[in-house]
Amino acid sequence: DPDAVLARQAARESAARTYARTFRIVPVHARGMTVTGADGRRYLDCLSGAGTLALGHNHPVVVEAVQRVIERGAPWHALDIATPEKDEFTDALFAALPPGLARRARVHFCGPAGTDAVEAALKLTRTATGRTGVAAFTGAYHGMTAGALAASGGVGVKEPMTGVAAEATRLPYPYAYRCPFGLGDSSGEVSARYVERLLDDPNGGVVPPAAMILEAVQGEGGVVPAPLPWLREMRRITAERGIPLVLDEVQTGVGRTGTMWAIEAAGVEPDVMVLSKAIGGSLPLAVVVYADHLDTWAPGAHTGTFRGTTLAMAAGAATLRYVQSERLAERAEALGRRLRADLTALAGAHPSIGEVRGRGLLNGIELVEPDAVPDRVGARPAAPGLAVAVRAECLRRGLIVELGGRHDSVVRLIPPLVMTDEEAGQVLDRLDAALTAAER
Ligand code: PMP
Repeated sequence: DPDAVLARQAARESAARTYARTFRIVPVHARGMTVTGADGRRYLDCLSGAGTLALGHNHPVVVEAVQRVIERGAPWHALDIATPEKDEFTDALFAALPPGLARRARVHFCGPAGTDAVEAALKLTRTATGRTGVAAFTGAYHGMTAGALAASGGVGVKEPMTGVAAEATRLPYPYAYRCPFGLGDSSGEVSARYVERLLDDPNGGVVPPAAMILEAVQGEGGVVPAPLPWLREMRRITAERGIPLVLDEVQTGVGRTGTMWAIEAAGVEPDVMVLSKAIGGSLPLAVVVYADHLDTWAPGAHTGTFRGTTLAMAAGAATLRYVQSERLAERAEALGRRLRADLTALAGAHPSIGEVRGRGLLNGIELVEPDAVPDRVGARPAAPGLAVAVRAECLRRGLIVELGGRHDSVVRLIPPLVMTDEEAGQVLDRLDAALTAAER
């Protein structure tokens, strides 16, 4: 009885549980993009385990990879000891890395969450540079541990943690729709000049940081793709000042944004990449990859028990190889382009759609107050209440979507990269109907 399960868990679990409140379903089966609840209802999954399911649920190549490990009787857990599965995963990872980084890369296996790999990147760059600070961006999301939280923007959950999280210098991310300078499309250029000035101003309050950390497309921040010239500017600015550039590709990696790694679209390479989510083929795995000149840690500098999960390495290797062999990044690029065009067309009938944006199959729809007067760059006030209603109406129609953004008013679409054209059509139809119902 799904209602009994939901009630029992509500009584026993932490008050901080989140998704369980929003999605009152008890999933018992999942395949591809379809999740089936205990009550037999089917849902199209545009959340994909918060972006972990690049190949969707129970993809045969991932299932087989896991089954092979089990059949061989391989150790499921091996700390950070070398295993054939780790060897294969590292092979697949290095084959997929940006070529310049691959030639001189080192990988460190972290605790199994993205936030631990962020922590590792921040600690490593501290050790390597002898500096302490971190330059991070408005709207960023890097995780929940103290260091990662420090680098995250002003997400609501951070407020009660003031004093726990370390300090980071907050720099303006180029979010054109709600540009902090009110400059719309030139937000990238203005941000780059501001960042450069601040780093060079002896009285700017910015001690030379150990690292600059950023997402090439902010996910939790409301699906905000950085302009490619801005990414190139951040590369130039950090390179000229000897600041390691850390790319958080936890959500954007493994083909999600139309290239294997989101930064590749800009034609530049980072010094450090933080990877998790899809990298483990939906099983828990996180790594930090960095250029070998940063390899300054002594043994034991960043340990953790769960750094040798054989099943995750097998699933991750299978996923990486499949994304490459089936050219799923290109597919994400083409399908995403069409999806955004269709969503933009939908905006004609739905005045609550303020902006449609994204890259590849990481897309967002910013919902706004339809009747409000736009500001001088054309943005209207965010509509978080409407967004909550749209999410509920979507679920009612068999579509799982999550919200994000500065005002929790962005509907995020993170379907598996293997979504079919037909499924994409169904997503649009259900979203259209949900918007109509919520706008009433
Ligand atoms: N970085 C980014 C860009 C993320 O999107 C997330 C998770 N949403 C994290 C880090 C943290 O990963 P985890 O939840 O696995 O700790």
